[in-house]
Amino acid sequence: MTELVEPVAPAEPAGAGRWCDRCGEPSAAGGHDACAAARALEPPRYCVHCRRRMKVQVVPTGWSAVCVEHGEIRG
Ligand SMILES: [Zn+2]
Ligand SMILES: [Zn+2]
Repeated sequence: MTELVEPVAPAEPAGAGRWCDRCGEPSAAGGHDACAAARALEPPRYCVHCRRRMKVQVVPTGWSAVCVEHGEIRG
């Protein structure tokens, strides 16, 4: 029997995205104060986990943004 070694998924801090969900730049780069201010009023544009453009829909309760890889978030 051959043993299959499963690849270890890279650890990612929960809740902390790698990318800015507004401008799509690395969140660690800083300078996202304006983005954070805008995000208080607007839906996100990019997935914070994979930087994909999200499919944003306005719903009665606010908005819904879908990443094909990471699913839906609502605001
Ligand atoms: Zn930003
Ligand atoms: Zn994603």
